[in-house]
Amino acid sequence: MAFLELKGLVKRYGDFTAVEDCSLSVEQGEFLCLLGPSGCGKTTTLQMVAGFTPPTVGSIILDGKDITDLKPSKRGLGVVFQSYALFPHMTVHDNVAFGLQMRKVPSPDLALRVSEALDLVHLGAFAQRYPSELSGGQKQRVAMARALVIQPPVLLLDEPMGALDAKLREEMQIELRALQRRVGITTIMVTHDQAEAMTLADRVVLMNKGCIQQIARPVEMYEEPNGRFSSTFLGKANVFEGARVALGIAVGERILPCLADACEGDVDYIIRPEKIGFVQTDPILRGSVAARLFLGHHWLFQIQTDLGLIQVTQANVELPAVAEGDEVGLSWRTEHARVIARHLS
Ligand code: ATP
Repeated sequence: MAFLELKGLVKRYGDFTAVEDCSLSVEQGEFLCLLGPSGCGKTTTLQMVAGFTPPTVGSIILDGKDITDLKPSKRGLGVVFQSYALFPHMTVHDNVAFGLQMRKVPSPDLALRVSEALDLVHLGAFAQRYPSELSGGQKQRVAMARALVIQPPVLLLDEPMGALDAKLREEMQIELRALQRRVGITTIMVTHDQAEAMTLADRVVLMNKGCIQQIARPVEMYEEPNGRFSSTFLGKANVFEGARVALGIAVGERILPCLADACEGDVDYIIRPEKIGFVQTDPILRGSVAARLFLGHHWLFQIQTDLGLIQVTQANVELPAVAEGDEVGLSWRTEHARVIARHLS
């Protein structure tokens, strides 16, 4: 049995369904990211696990016990919000000690556990500072220490790096991953940032309009998106609406290549920009280069074709062989295209 199980969770507000039939299993020690656009139900799902929002339907099982009706304090889970919610009038030490005092942990043990938690987040030297004397990244670490000090079975993080600038955010992601591995704590984190989810998660739970769209390891989700939404939310993708015919996938007047076992009927034909190359002979499509953009670690080309604008990327080379206005041939390997039944997208 999984360590944490969400079984058929539904959350309705009047006629509006914020979360629809959310079921997933989390293994002990696993790092799961709930990823999706704003309003898709990530926070609501996390709040149901934390106990702040009661589900309309469904149950939550932790380590074999049904905790659906338990108060948040009885669940004993560690929670970190984007705002950190530190007590401004208390020192770092006292902020971290608070949860232990509530649990009536005796003094010598309390002091040891607070100092261990602060060491864990590299803030041992900051114990006597107040939150107003800390940087954003340091406040975030205090919030982590405060959540971890109670030794919760599960850590719940809601956009914990949302308030940090891009560079610090990247550093904190690496730190958080290392910390989570060290402590081995089962973690669920909410984010709308695909790069963050890919960096941190063992598995990504991609949500859309209250429903789980796909659950997969990051590489698997990128390489094998199960539909149009997954392919475009995680990375860039060219998506063509087409239909299976004898020789391939008919898109407009064109037939695009597909593997022999590709699905029948109306399909979405998905090809990632980095899988498309420029060729002189036997192109699948022809077009003209409408734009060529330098994006640091790669070039992005927008190619005008009779199937619309197609995106192509190439790893950074000093000067690419094609320029704006050039006529080019495009090709890709058949197995790099994903063909997905339209109703699944
Ligand atoms: P974000 O990334 O913007 O935080 P989210 O994916 O976390 O979005 P939720 O906060 O879970 O989204 O909200 C899901 C939907 O439920 C939204 O449309 C939101 O407006 C709605 N919702 C959330 N809480 C309530 C509430 N108390 N009453 C009514 N609707 C709510």
